Amino acid sequence: MTDLLAGLNEPQRQAVLHQDGPLLLLAGAGSGKTRALTHRVAYLIRERGVAPWQIMAVTFTNKAANEMRERLEALLGSSELPWVATFHASCVRILRQEIHHLGFGRDFLIYDDQDQLRLLRELLKDQQISEKVLKPRAAAAAIDSAKNSGIGPTEYGNLHPDERLVAELYAQYQHKLKAANAVDFGDLLLLTVRLLEEFPEVRERWQQRFRHVLIDEFQDTNRVQYRLMQLLTRPETALCVVGDDDQSIYRWRGAEVGNILGFDIDFPTASVIRLEQNYRSTRTILEAAGAVVGCNPDRREKQLWTENPPGELLHVETAPDDFEEARFVAAEIAELQRAGHGLREMAVFYRTNAQSRALEEALRAGRIPYVMFGGVKFYARLEVKDVLSYLRVLINPQDSLAVRRIINVPARGIGNTTIERIAAYEEQAGNFLAACRLALQEQILKGAAAKRVGEFLALLDSFTERLQRLPYPQLMAELIHDSGYGPALQEEAQNALTAEGRQEAKGRLENLEQLLAGMEEHATAGGSVQDYLEQIALITDLEQHDDSQQRVTLMTLHSAKGLEFPIVFMTGMEEGLFPHSRSGAMGEELAEERRLCYVGMTRAMQRLYLSHARRRRVYGTWQFNPPSRFLTEIPGQLIKGRGEEAAPATKTAAAHNLSSLADLMSGQEETEVWDENQDLAVSIAAPQPPHRGATESATDEGPAGLRLGTRVRHIKFGIGTVRRLEGDGDKQKVIVYFNSVGSKKLLLKFAGLIPV
Ligand code: ATP
Ligand code: MG
Repeated sequence: MTDLLAGLNEPQRQAVLHQDGPLLLLAGAGSGKTRALTHRVAYLIRERGVAPWQIMAVTFTNKAANEMRERLEALLGSSELPWVATFHASCVRILRQEIHHLGFGRDFLIYDDQDQLRLLRELLKDQQISEKVLKPRAAAAAIDSAKNSGIGPTEYGNLHPDERLVAELYAQYQHKLKAANAVDFGDLLLLTVRLLEEFPEVRERWQQRFRHVLIDEFQDTNRVQYRLMQLLTRPETALCVVGDDDQSIYRWRGAEVGNILGFDIDFPTASVIRLEQNYRSTRTILEAAGAVVGCNPDRREKQLWTENPPGELLHVETAPDDFEEARFVAAEIAELQRAGHGLREMAVFYRTNAQSRALEEALRAGRIPYVMFGGVKFYARLEVKDVLSYLRVLINPQDSLAVRRIINVPARGIGNTTIERIAAYEEQAGNFLAACRLALQEQILKGAAAKRVGEFLALLDSFTERLQRLPYPQLMAELIHDSGYGPALQEEAQNALTAEGRQEAKGRLENLEQLLAGMEEHATAGGSVQDYLEQIALITDLEQHDDSQQRVTLMTLHSAKGLEFPIVFMTGMEEGLFPHSRSGAMGEELAEERRLCYVGMTRAMQRLYLSHARRRRVYGTWQFNPPSRFLTEIPGQLIKGRGEEAAPATKTAAAHNLSSLADLMSGQEETEVWDENQDLAVSIAAPQPPHRGATESATDEGPAGLRLGTRVRHIKFGIGTVRRLEGDGDKQKVIVYFNSVGSKKLLLKFAGLIPV
């Protein structure tokens, strides 16, 4: 049997052997915290005779839990394993035994996001509250975030007196859940807390059962999780928490780094063990990551060293655009593979989900299998499938599945009854769309239902007509807007009640932008819309048949936490993207982005690539992003070839600084530019190349040289395309379709439009 203390350094050994009082293991990335925790569990069982059922080990993700279980199996052989689970899974296990105290049956159902939305939608309908007044998804996000903070409906009402509607809906929602003997994700934690708070005998039973509670990634616990930990432990419990404040990256989701930094206040008898030796990364990678996170103010200084060799210098790649960046990554992976590296050794990280599109395409083009962890592959994403269904219907009206998918997406008041009524005629008409027409003709549908289905058909007809005269990427852009799909998301991105809800909607919008960018790449290469759809159908098909184990891992930086890979690519190292512009250019949010960068870099064991693109496609226009400030925070001598090349993006930025004053002040569409001299991010307009997709057929020309299809910039709405000109002289109006807000009619004289 393995010696459980061999292969550990002195402080790790102390952590394994520690006996008296709570223990905090606070140490930097790759220093063997998770390893120490795992060995401690094994040691307790094998050497101290603790029964596995008396131990509860909590991890951050199911993947981490599986890995820890595998490690334990390797260390312990076939003996019984302890409880290793995420907070959520732990709560399910407790509730399965105890939930009857709260009036639920033990066979309770767990509602997922979809079930949750369905229920909220029903409730809104019952109350005759329009989804325009309160979006189900916004309500769900508000409820989730309340639950994350341990706030119930009544308290919610008191805290947010102006959100009475949400508070009431929240109360009814809880009521319905209970009636259905169901709980949602947020409830799992909340109900467990309530159970343990309200039923002392239950609490004591569990406190006595778990003699040992161990929690990994403690820096990312939120308030409810912390409360749960307090309730499950008593002074006699051996509590061991493990984490790194430099890796706290879920503040935006309610995680409280104070839980780890203030641990010794809540637990004054706690011992603190620090680990300082990193075993994971080369000295170069470690130094570079340390330099970046060292730029954060108010940070607890941590020593981290390694005996590992310096290894290779970091590779910083400047690509002309996002397409080339993805091609670089794919080509390099192929090269590494030829040199004998397995695909499983490599991971590609990105900041936002939307970035995966270009990478996925490049990998496919290079026939490199990949697996996406903690996310959905691009073409399988809800919003991508939704809008592509519209396109499929236009190309092939017989695609009844696609028609059904979009008939009430976004919500346009066509309910299931209407759909069923139409479906009854499907066979007679030949397909679902024809059945819609038939149902109208024969006046099978009446009143509001007939009107709405009629409008839906008119919408499709207008798109079909536009498809004849517009390049399909542009048609798609118009479709996203005119179908109401984009505006609904936009509205959500601005008005969702919680930061999480807003971010989710923004993420979906970014995916749609990426979809358009991909289409434009395809159209530019001369591909027809039919080719495009075929290619996508093929992608989905191929993936299903590919069961090869050797795959590159693709994931967001957030989901990379706790993992390690010999070779890591961090892409999109650009201002505005990473640090994300959502995070603002300073303050705690920037610090969190920097910690995320530290997390990403410290996943790499041997080789680290950092790439950025000088320009990136956003809605068919180019956005020029200077390299991320994080790149400049890495000492030059750690980067391959640094010093030889001038910083090209800064030069571009300087040239662009000559843009008009209006651009400097412009609102939503500008690109953030890193100004080397001032150490400040200044906003300037990104110049736009001539737009290939713009229609040339129009003859109408305005005095300012504007005509149909001209790309323009507006001080508030950003980049748009001229759709129509009306009237003349001082009263001339222009209708512009803006990427940010949709169509706007403006008085030309005052619009201040600048052709770009
Ligand atoms: P993170 O902060 O990223 O979660 P961590 O502190 O949990 O990192 P581990 O994942 O436990 O670090 O360890 C990092 C790597 O170093 C692993 O590959 C682990 O096997 C190895 N390692 C840890 N401790 C030792 C040791 N004493 N001797 C040799 N290798 C070790
Ligand atoms: Mg770890």
